[in-house]
Amino acid sequence: MSRILVTGGTGFLGAAVVDVLLARGHSVVTTVRNAEKAQQMRAHFPSDKLDFVIVEDIAKLDAFDEAVVHDPPFDAVIHTASPFHYNIQDIRKDMIDPAVNGTVGILQSIKKNAPTVKRAVITSSFAALFQADKPRGSKYSERDWNPVTLDTVSDPVNSGGQAGYRTSKALAEKAAWEFMEKEKPGFTLTALNPSLIFGPVLPWLHSVNAINTSNERFWKFISGAEKLKCSPTGSLFWVDVRDAALAHALAAEKPEVAGKRFFLTAGNFCNRELVEIIGDAFPELRDGLPSGDEALKDGSYPPGGPAHGYDNSASRKELGLEYRSLKESTIDTVKSIQALQNRVQ
Ligand code: NAP
Repeated sequence: MSRILVTGGTGFLGAAVVDVLLARGHSVVTTVRNAEKAQQMRAHFPSDKLDFVIVEDIAKLDAFDEAVVHDPPFDAVIHTASPFHYNIQDIRKDMIDPAVNGTVGILQSIKKNAPTVKRAVITSSFAALFQADKPRGSKYSERDWNPVTLDTVSDPVNSGGQAGYRTSKALAEKAAWEFMEKEKPGFTLTALNPSLIFGPVLPWLHSVNAINTSNERFWKFISGAEKLKCSPTGSLFWVDVRDAALAHALAAEKPEVAGKRFFLTAGNFCNRELVEIIGDAFPELRDGLPSGDEALKDGSYPPGGPAHGYDNSASRKELGLEYRSLKESTIDTVKSIQALQNRVQ
């Protein structure tokens, strides 16, 4: 059993990380932005092995200085908190600062104030692997790096929506490895690079508008918003939140994965596959789903299949991950959104 600090426990992934750590017998403290959020989360996690600490804004470099200090002291820190949305007004303020300062800030705070911490695990992203010009037919793995720089951020073509988020994650992970190289702290770093994460939505949501970014498409299918035209899939890789969360726990537990990064993906998917799984498993939703080649065209794989393959062997062999199927993840996600609908009706 270890004592572990998790940042962003109120998030879609962060809550799943807290859940799996508690199930594996660890004692957890999670950061939340305010007391109300702690109360909301506590109602779903009555465990006396879970505690809360308030960190209002991770964009401040010293935000974690006090949070990393605890009695009994921490053995490991898992940093999941970072903004994930495409509604960006000011790329620097909304995305880059919380992502980069949050990541560098927590590493600095551990080095300064938490000498017992042996391992830090950060949630990076497929975004830090993405390359716009990656040759068709090649495979993504943790050996890939997104080449974006701070200059790209001020380029209006690359600064909005998805590109803004991707840039924030790529720069944050780069900054973390640079910190390790330069500062040589007394703890190790492991980075996890999940692809798009699906899975059950947070149990305390009170509105479908609060569904997290990567699960939004499921609500669009369920609500009938895509009946006439299925949206393009975007990134063609996915992973279930419970598997991504387990990877965080394993990375904190296994000293042998220190200094490494891992691409977390169960494989390729396209929106058409999600629609087909939903239609088969939930006949009552069929009327609202797009059907027929024309409506599903944009959400199908391009001719010849997905442009890029993947290599997830390191996550399976070194972390020991086994990935859930797209069918299981899709069905569980839809059920969780139906439960949310029932709660708010
Ligand atoms: P989420 O549900 O929006 O969770 C984000 C978490 O970060 C929340 O706890 C949020 O707090 C916290 N946060 C954001 N900005 C903050 C700030 N300025 N100060 C303090 N806390 C802040 O998103 P998620 O999908 O779980 O993402 C979690 C992590 O996984 C992120 O690092 C993301 O980049 C990474 N990731 C996600 C996916 C995906 O498909 N979901 C894929 C790859 C990587 P509040 O709850 O108070 O807002």
